[in-house]
Amino acid sequence: LFETAPPPWELAVQDDVATATIVFSEAPHGPYDYRIPDEMRDDLKPGMRVKVPLGHRKKAMIGWCTETKMGSSASRTLRDVSEVLDDDPLCDAHLVRLVMWMSHYYQAPAGQVFDTLIPSSVRSNAGTRERTYFKLTRRDIEDELIESLPPKQQQAIRFLIMSGRPMTSAQVMIGADCTISPIKSLEKKGLVVSEARREMATSTPMRWQLDDGETETKHELTDDQSVALGKIKDAVDAEEGKALLLHGVTGSGKTEVYIRAIEHVVKFGRSAIVLVPEISLTPQTRGRFERRFEGVAVLHSQMTPAERHFQWQRIRRNEVQVVIGPRSAVFAPLPRLGLIILDEEHDGSFKQGTAPRYHARKVAHARAMSLKIPIILGTATPSLESWHACSTGHADLISMPSRVGNRPMPDVQLVDLKNRDDRTSGAISRPLHQAVVDTLEENGQIILLLNRRGFATTIQCPSCGHVVSCPDCDMPLTHHRDGGKAVCHYCDYTIGTPPWCPACRFDGIRYGGLGTQRLEVEVKSRFPGAKVARMDSDTMRRPGSHQKVLSAFRSGEINILLGTQMIAKGLDFPNVLLVGVINADSALHFPDFRAAERTFGLVTQVAGRTGRGDRGGRVIVQTFSPEHPAIQAASRHDYEQFAHDEMNARRKFNYPPLGSVARIIIRGGVEEVTESTAESLVRHFESARDKLGHEVRILGPAPPPMSKLKGKYRFHILLQAVASGPLGEVIRTATDKFVIPEKDDVQYVVDIDPMEM
Ligand code: ADP
Ligand code: ZN
Repeated sequence: LFETAPPPWELAVQDDVATATIVFSEAPHGPYDYRIPDEMRDDLKPGMRVKVPLGHRKKAMIGWCTETKMGSSASRTLRDVSEVLDDDPLCDAHLVRLVMWMSHYYQAPAGQVFDTLIPSSVRSNAGTRERTYFKLTRRDIEDELIESLPPKQQQAIRFLIMSGRPMTSAQVMIGADCTISPIKSLEKKGLVVSEARREMATSTPMRWQLDDGETETKHELTDDQSVALGKIKDAVDAEEGKALLLHGVTGSGKTEVYIRAIEHVVKFGRSAIVLVPEISLTPQTRGRFERRFEGVAVLHSQMTPAERHFQWQRIRRNEVQVVIGPRSAVFAPLPRLGLIILDEEHDGSFKQGTAPRYHARKVAHARAMSLKIPIILGTATPSLESWHACSTGHADLISMPSRVGNRPMPDVQLVDLKNRDDRTSGAISRPLHQAVVDTLEENGQIILLLNRRGFATTIQCPSCGHVVSCPDCDMPLTHHRDGGKAVCHYCDYTIGTPPWCPACRFDGIRYGGLGTQRLEVEVKSRFPGAKVARMDSDTMRRPGSHQKVLSAFRSGEINILLGTQMIAKGLDFPNVLLVGVINADSALHFPDFRAAERTFGLVTQVAGRTGRGDRGGRVIVQTFSPEHPAIQAASRHDYEQFAHDEMNARRKFNYPPLGSVARIIIRGGVEEVTESTAESLVRHFESARDKLGHEVRILGPAPPPMSKLKGKYRFHILLQAVASGPLGEVIRTATDKFVIPEKDDVQYVVDIDPMEM
């Protein structure tokens, strides 16, 4: 995981023209060299955007400058840069290097990586406006000249002299009590000039209201916490770049350690990035940081472009000590970054699902190493990548094996759904039902996890067996009760749920499977006295709804909170005495080598939501496979046993982290053409492998579990090798020369270190 190849670009100097290397986000991606006209030499720096001519295009293209130098690698004559678009670089030299590393490692065009690094709100100057300022052309305007002017012009010019800096027309009009016309006259006489400036339209950051009534106490650290903090401080002081895996059970007090570590960094005038999974960016989490630090910038997906731009500018001006946000916050342009923290480092949301398909853990690590600062990976269930990095010496392990106050880990009881005596006609088994009743009686709160939203997962005709599916994705549609809709969870294709079978017209279509909506109906009817709330991406669409449900749960207004994995993470409510996992197998039977890791993680995380108060807590896990090693290990809170078993299983096939995997996704409108393109790509990989003499396994092309997605046919090719270097080289060599005719309408993307198969 953690070895990184040095970027292979070196250019020979041939003559003394100033040249700029430019890359583009659209094909052709470059890099191409351009001559810098003399008058732009002082203005153009790496990390700025330029306009340049490209090919036979009529319009100039926008590109990113990665390098300026004297001399050029090209012997032919170069074209000129037409225009420099930015006054200041949007990326400093360090971030430009990060872009080049990402482009190399993830095999993504550098221009596309720049566009990912710099939010579109920044590139488009969102929330800014252009204002006209007036200023004197010279300081030493003679008194006689001023006195010869009409009275209003005199007032205007005296006001500008007095204020001593450029003023907007509105400011002059108020300050000098005049209209716009005397100002215009002064401009005509050459005494005043106007200049346009771009500035933020809003001047105050949007802060969430911290109305959760909490106070942040600075706890006396536990022994585990002190040891952990000491190791982190040592790594900060050593200034040598180090990865630290903070393996702390749920409730061991990791957040307090993060906060102290950041305090240590801030003391020296430096700043920190805290990356969290998007859905665990709760008001509770932000509150804990905002109460302890002055300048906190929280980045999240519901910001307006203007807010995003505003925060970005604050961060770049060094006004912020801590940046908290999901995946993309890894690019926050803090000028004096001193520490990066990934909380819940195992979380799948750190991997971007669209190109460039980067993993924030990997990018954060690269950034930390190049700045010689530590990166802390915090979690109760380490990714096997990070665990393995500890055993190979690429990371240091810090353990916090017990909960704060030595609270016991909750008891986990497995309910075998194969057992008829425990099963009911619904989703809730007899033992879970009884546990809910008991907990409600004790005035305790309950969390129920079901990792699938909607009402029913399949809509099937009992007469002919037809399953109502998405025409674009070939996936079964999910029935949603509100509005009687059938929805594709991959592309959002929506129709009214058909009352009879679309294939055979049988009147009596059936809803099978189970989603959170159906669970909600069942829970409400089983426990009519309880207040129930559901939390999934359907009920949490509106900004603030998350916060609302959580504060109602905190205040005890809600007895039972049910939902998808959204509720599994980060919540810290001492009165939760029972956690129920409705179906632990839902993630287990996926054709993916990480299925067991996901299952272990999910069960452990949700179990960690209970037993946080003085009254203890218990967990009931319903499963058809209680003997499965991942579920067994999760029920005993035994990460090490799980990691040991799982590592052995992966070793057999060289699956990550013991080997490297890349996935090529080929998409096209016509099935045969897409498949034959994929086959020819495989042949290119094979010949590159043979030419380079690397040992790389090439599998496919095969249709993935979802072979048709959003109206496109898909094929996957899988490449496997012992190390990422040779694997990358084979892909680079093969794809360099691989051109698909435009008429074929086939595209492919390279997915390095894919998180799903
Ligand atoms: P984790 O992130 O490891 O699950 P948290 O950081 O959420 O754990 O801490 C769990 C609870 O323990 C929180 O309510 C926190 O305020 C509290 N806590 C943390 N450190 C201490 C301490 N040293 N003494 C007392 N309480 C603490
Ligand atoms: Zn679809």
